[in-house]
Amino acid sequence: MANKRLYDAIVVGAGLAGLSAAYQLSVAGRSTLVLEADKHIGGRILTKRIAGTTIEQGAQWISSSHLQFIELSMSLGLELEQHEYPGSHRFALQGVVNEFDGTLPKLSLADRFTIGRLAKNLDKATRRIDREKPWLSPQANELDQLRFSQYLKNNLFNKRHYNVIKTVLEGHFLNGIDQISALQGIMEWQEKDNEKWQILGGADQLPRKLAQEVDVLLGQKVKQVNKDGSFAKVECGDHSYRARHVIVALPPAQAAEISYDPPISTTKKSMWDSIKPGRIIKSTLVFPSPFWRSASWSGKAFIAGEGPFQLLIDAGTSRDVHGIISTYTIGTNCLTFEKLQDDEKKQFILELVQSILKCGPDELPLFSSMYDWKCPPNGYGAYHIFPPGILTGFEDHLVRPEGVIHWASAEYDPIYRGTMEGAVRSGLRAAGEILSL
Ligand SMILES: Cc1cc2nc3c(=O)[nH]c(=O)nc-3n(C[C@H](O)[C@H](O)[C@H](O)COP(=O)(O)OP(=O)(O)OC[C@H]3O[C@@H](n4cnc5c(N)ncnc54)[C@H](O)[C@@H]3O)c2cc1C
Repeated sequence: MANKRLYDAIVVGAGLAGLSAAYQLSVAGRSTLVLEADKHIGGRILTKRIAGTTIEQGAQWISSSHLQFIELSMSLGLELEQHEYPGSHRFALQGVVNEFDGTLPKLSLADRFTIGRLAKNLDKATRRIDREKPWLSPQANELDQLRFSQYLKNNLFNKRHYNVIKTVLEGHFLNGIDQISALQGIMEWQEKDNEKWQILGGADQLPRKLAQEVDVLLGQKVKQVNKDGSFAKVECGDHSYRARHVIVALPPAQAAEISYDPPISTTKKSMWDSIKPGRIIKSTLVFPSPFWRSASWSGKAFIAGEGPFQLLIDAGTSRDVHGIISTYTIGTNCLTFEKLQDDEKKQFILELVQSILKCGPDELPLFSSMYDWKCPPNGYGAYHIFPPGILTGFEDHLVRPEGVIHWASAEYDPIYRGTMEGAVRSGLRAAGEILSL
């Protein structure tokens, strides 16, 4: 069925990028329609409320540098709370739990020199990177051709140091360091301290507030975007819609599933083919109280090896009566973990959580939840992986509009790539492109 109305803009995808774009256009008085494939808005922001407890199955944390996200949230009346557990982090290696301060663990005196020097080199390297246009940075090509894992090995003396650093950085980046380039890794190093703020009451409140101001149709999976004279025709199964402009607010792997007429440029297509979504299994355990909190632990632990998870965080806020612990199983570790039965997975996680929290065998969770961010075609995927060569090889092609089509999603923001801040910034940028025409 064809909808006769001609919109100023159609936004494909009601994730944070799409809703930020649509909100900005609506505030500027442009008629805007958002088409969302799923039965809910928010995309990779997925808040569940179970027995009165708010559980984030997807995005949760905001860094102090996420200024546009913070500004937008506050302008819509949302309350943010700082994650205030000053103290050391924990690091678990082959069953032994150590404590460390700062970003990288120096577990022995002998580590101090090598790991301290690596941190200094990374800090120095980040200062040389042009974050908006990384391809213009000194040695950009060389760094972009090198895997980040190799860059680290070149800066470290031994395998033990490498394994320790790999564990912590993968916990920070939530992606495999052997899949991304050194250029990407150095850029992400700048954002290593992410878990600073949370939205009280749940991250999904931001997409919900934005959606109150715009027209959203759920269950509308866009299959084609075609040129129709000087307008665009957007087809979703039985329904079609027309607009002057379209914003495809989808991560590359999902944008690539839509067919475009005229076809999108081969440059963009080959970029999409190279950028693959990564996978995360996020589990949350709800305990009767946050009994593990002490003045000296930050609530964050990194776990080396191929265990059931690589990162653990105290995810509670001051409003929570119960204690909330979230764990992240990252990248290829999901493949080993998924082979277990559900009961075995839960038990495996619980045993490791108990050893890290140093709790007794009777300190059991009230309930738990597990969400597997599988990759397309069966899921959204989690953080996308920019392999070596992408940042310098394609420069700003990823975001360049094609005819009446503009592009948004967290993956398209050069500085805060893959984060909620990146999603907001990319949405506002795409809306700005249309408003400036
Ligand atoms: C487990 C996990 C933890 C995370 N933790 C954090 C965190 O703590 N802090 C942080 O800043 N970020 C975090 N992120 C990343 C953050 O969730 C994303 O960067 C951000 O939410 C992406 O928003 P988006 O709008 O770009 O994309 P998405 O959220 O992926 O939205 C895309 C939307 O488009 C819809 N769609 C797809 N195809 C079509 C189609 N053909 N037609 C119509 N609609 C379609 C999808 O259903 C979806 O709703 C996390 C992500 C995961 C998975």
